[in-house]
Amino acid sequence: MSSKTFDNAQVVNRERFSTSVKVVVIGLGALCLVYAVANLPRTTIGWGFLFVLAFAALASPHVTLTLPRSRFAISFADSLIFLAFLLYGGEGAIILAAVETLANCLYLKRSGHPWGPLMIPTNIAINILATTTTFIVLLIVQGIAGPDFTPEKTQHLITLLGVLGLSQFMMSSSFAAIFHTLKTGESLWETWKKYCFSSSMTQIVGIGLAGIVFKLVNYGDIITAATALLAIAVAFLSYRQSIGEVNTAFAQVEEAERAKAAAERERRLEAESHASQLQLALSKEEQANIALRKSERDFQHAALHDSLTGLANRKNFGDVLRRMIEESKADSSIAFQVLFLDIRGFKDINDSLGHTIGDKVLVVAAKRFIRMLNPGDVVARIGGDEFAIILRDLPNADKAQKVARRIYKSLTQPFSLGGHSITIDLNIGIAPSDPEYDTPEEILRDADIAMHFAKEKNDGPAVFNREMRDRFLERIRLEMDLRHAVERNEMSLHYQPIVSLTDGRLIGFEALLRWHHAKMGMIPPFRFIPIAEDSGLILPITIWILHESCRQLAEWQKIAPEYRDLVVSVNISGKHLTKNLLIDDVVGALQSSRVAARTLKLEITESTAMENAEHTIHILGRLKEIGVQLSIDDFGTGYSSLSVLHRLPFDTLKIDRSFVNRVGEHGEDSEVLQTVISLAKNLKMRVIAEGIETKPQLAVLQNLGCDYGQGYLLAKPKGREETEELLYKRPQWLPSEQIADDDGQPRDGRSISDSITLH
Ligand code: C2E
Ligand code: MG
Ligand code: MG
Repeated sequence: MSSKTFDNAQVVNRERFSTSVKVVVIGLGALCLVYAVANLPRTTIGWGFLFVLAFAALASPHVTLTLPRSRFAISFADSLIFLAFLLYGGEGAIILAAVETLANCLYLKRSGHPWGPLMIPTNIAINILATTTTFIVLLIVQGIAGPDFTPEKTQHLITLLGVLGLSQFMMSSSFAAIFHTLKTGESLWETWKKYCFSSSMTQIVGIGLAGIVFKLVNYGDIITAATALLAIAVAFLSYRQSIGEVNTAFAQVEEAERAKAAAERERRLEAESHASQLQLALSKEEQANIALRKSERDFQHAALHDSLTGLANRKNFGDVLRRMIEESKADSSIAFQVLFLDIRGFKDINDSLGHTIGDKVLVVAAKRFIRMLNPGDVVARIGGDEFAIILRDLPNADKAQKVARRIYKSLTQPFSLGGHSITIDLNIGIAPSDPEYDTPEEILRDADIAMHFAKEKNDGPAVFNREMRDRFLERIRLEMDLRHAVERNEMSLHYQPIVSLTDGRLIGFEALLRWHHAKMGMIPPFRFIPIAEDSGLILPITIWILHESCRQLAEWQKIAPEYRDLVVSVNISGKHLTKNLLIDDVVGALQSSRVAARTLKLEITESTAMENAEHTIHILGRLKEIGVQLSIDDFGTGYSSLSVLHRLPFDTLKIDRSFVNRVGEHGEDSEVLQTVISLAKNLKMRVIAEGIETKPQLAVLQNLGCDYGQGYLLAKPKGREETEELLYKRPQWLPSEQIADDDGQPRDGRSISDSITLH
C-alpha cells in the first residue's frame, strides 16, 4: 500500500471515530440537559432567570472571541454561566449553557460559519457536559467544604469562582482540543497548548465579571457596578481587539505562507520545467553532436578513401608514404618497397562488358590485394585501374618481387561476374625505398616507371633502376618533340625497293619513316614508333605518310612506262587499324595523289592482325573494296591461327626477316621459310621475303619460289632523291649472277640448286 492511500485510510477512520464520539457526546449532553431541566428548583424560575436566559440568547453571541487559528469560539457569555451557578445553582447553569451555546452557534451560522452536520448539537453538548462536570466538581468542593461554604461570603466567593473558572476552562478547552485532535490528527497536548490555553483569559475575565455582577446583585451599589462594568467593557474591547489583531496577523502570516508556498511550488515547477527543457536541449545537442561527429568521420573517411573499393585513396597513400620516407631518413634500418600496379587492358573490359562490370572487377581486385597483404602493408587505388602498395619492413627488392609475383598469381585467377568468366592481367613496377627520395611523388613516379618497363617487357614485375628513369625521361622528351616533328619538317620517308626474285624487276618500295631530330640527329623507328603509338601521334603521322608516299609514287610512276605499276607499301599501326577513320584517310591519300588504288599496299603486322581478328577482317574487307593491296608483315612472329588467316583478305605475305636471317652461308636452316612459302601459296598469297642480306639467303628464297624480296643485299632504304636517282639509273636490282634466264637458270650457268644446298 502506498503512503498516500495509507494516509487517506487514516483520515477516513478518524472521521468515523470523531462522528461516533460526537454522537456519544450529544447523547450525554442531552441526558444532562434533561436532568437539569427536571431538577431545576421551581423557586429559581423567575424574571431574573428569564432575563439572564434572554441575555444569553440575544446578547452573548455578540461578545464572543474566536480563538486564534481555531474554529472554536469562547464566548464571554461564559461569565453568565458562572453567574447562573452563583445565582441559580448547577441546573440553571446547565440550561443557560445550552441556551447560550445554541444562540452563539446560530449566530455564527448566520454569519457564514461552515458548521458540519453534527457540530451545533456537539457544541451545545460540550458546553452542557463542561458545565455539568463543573457542577459535579462544585458539589464535591461544597461537600468537602461543608454547609458554610456560600458565595455570599467574599472569601468563599473567590474560591468558588476559582473552582468554577478552572473547572469550566479545563473542561471546555479539553473538549475543544479533543475534537480538534480528532479532526486533524495532531497531538492533543500540542493542540490544547496551541489553541485552547489562550481561552483561559476569557474564563478569568468571565469569572471576574460574574463575581462582580453577583456582588452587585447582592449589594445593589450602582456606582461600583457602573465602574466595574466600564472597566470590564474596556478590558473586553481591548482584548477583543488584540485577539482580532492576532487573528489578522495569523491570517496574514498564513496568507503569506500560502503565497510563499504557492510561489515556491511555482518556482519548483518552473525549475523542473526548465530542467526538463534543458535536458531536452542537452539531449538534442548531444544527438546533433553525435550526428556531427559521424558526418565528420564519414567526411574524413570519404576524404581519405576510394568510394568504390574502400581502399585508401591517392592522398591517404601519399600521407602514409611521406611519413615512411621521413622515418626511413631518420632511421636507415627502416626499408620498404612501393609497388605500382595497373590492370592490363582494363579499358577493353569496360568497353566490352560495361562500366558496371568494370567497377566490380576493380572491387574483386581490391579484395584480392587485401587478402595478399600483411596487416601493416597499405594498398590504395590511385587512379582508374591503377593501384599502389607499400610493403613494410622489406629491405630486399628480390623479396618484393616474390611478393609481387604472388600478388600477380592471385590477381590473375579467373573469376566470373554477371555470367562472364573474367581474367585480369597486371603490370607491376617496384621501387625500393632509397635515401634519395624526399617526397611520395618521387618514389611513386619511379614505381610507375618500373611498371611501364614491365608492361613493355611483358616479363613479370620489374624493379626500378636509374637507367629506366633515364629512358623514361627520354621517352617523355621524345614524345614532346614528336608532337612537333611533322610540322618542323623533321620527318621524312625512306624508300626500300622490293624486287621480283624471279626476274629482278622493281615491284615497288616500302615507305619507311625517318626522324631527323633537330638536336639528337637520326632517331631509329624502333625508338619513336612505340612512343607515337602509345601517345596516339601515330595517327596524324600515318596520314602524313599516306599522303606523302602516294604523292611521291604518283611522280615516280610517271618517270617511265615500266614504273607505271610501281607499288608503295605503307606500314599501318594497330592503333590506326582499330579506327574506321583509316578508310577515309586511305581514300583521301588516293584521291589527292590520283594514284591507282591497287598501287598502294598497306602492311599490317601479323600480331596486329590477330589481336582483334574479327575487326581486322571487317576493316580489311572494306579496304579491299577500295581496291588497295594488303600485306601481312613480319609473318611468323604473331602466332597466326590458320582458320583466321585464310579469312583475312591479304594479297601478300611478308616473311619476317628473322627467318631469312637464320639461313646460313650454305643455305642451312631454311625449313621454316619453306613451310611459310608453301603456306602462302596454299592461301593464294604472293610471298615477300624481307631482310635479305646474303646471296645464299637470296638463292634459297629463289629456289623455294619466293615471289619478291627486300633487303640490304638488293637495296637499302634511301631518301627520296637517292631513290629517284636510282629510278632514273634503272640499276640491276638482283646480283647479276642471280638473275634467272628464261629457263629459270642463273646467268653464270650454274643452277641455284647447284650452288646452294637446301637443308
Ligand atoms: P618493317 O615494317 O618490318 O620494316 C622493315 C625493316 O627492316 C626496316 O627497318 C628496314 O630498314 C629493315 N630492313 C630491310 N632490309 C633489311 C636488311 O637486309 N637487314 C636489316 N637488318 N634490316 C633490314 P626500319 O626502317 O628500321 O623499320 C623498323 C620497323 O619500324 C618497321 O619494320 C616497322 O615496323 C616500323 N616502321 C618503320 N616505318 C614505319 C612507318 O612508317 N609506319 C609504321 N607504322 N611503322 C614503321
Ligand atoms: Mg613493313
Ligand atoms: Mg617487317
